[in-house]
Amino acid sequence: MASTVLIVEDNELNAKLFRDLLRAKGYATLEAGYGEQAMILARRHRPDLVLLDLQLPSISGYTVIRLLRADPTLRHTPVIGVSAFLLPSEGHQLIEAGFDDYVMKPISARELLSKVGALVRRCEVVDFGKYREIAG
Ligand code: MN
Repeated sequence: MASTVLIVEDNELNAKLFRDLLRAKGYATLEAGYGEQAMILARRHRPDLVLLDLQLPSISGYTVIRLLRADPTLRHTPVIGVSAFLLPSEGHQLIEAGFDDYVMKPISARELLSKVGALVRRCEVVDFGKYREIAG
């Protein structure tokens, strides 16, 4: 079954770019244009990864990551932050806030797909490890 990525992005052109890149690589995608909708979709569908824009209308990506990490069913879901402007110190803050990784706009397709792939694979390895523990 295809891994599912939840795209949280208020800019429609960026959302389309993410959708096209991810679908071309075989991922299924869900989309939310703002944080509250992202939480509803994340709780309902338990995506394999969340691509989370930091600058959103209403609640910010920083609030969304806090809500995700506070939810026991979503605490370990990989999340990649997306931002147009990051201060040099901000990358470290993103990791501390609970993001697994981040990418800068304008997006490099290769960088994005490589980071998504690495985090989705990491979770598959963890799941497989659990399975072996139970089986063995
Ligand atoms: Mn935005």
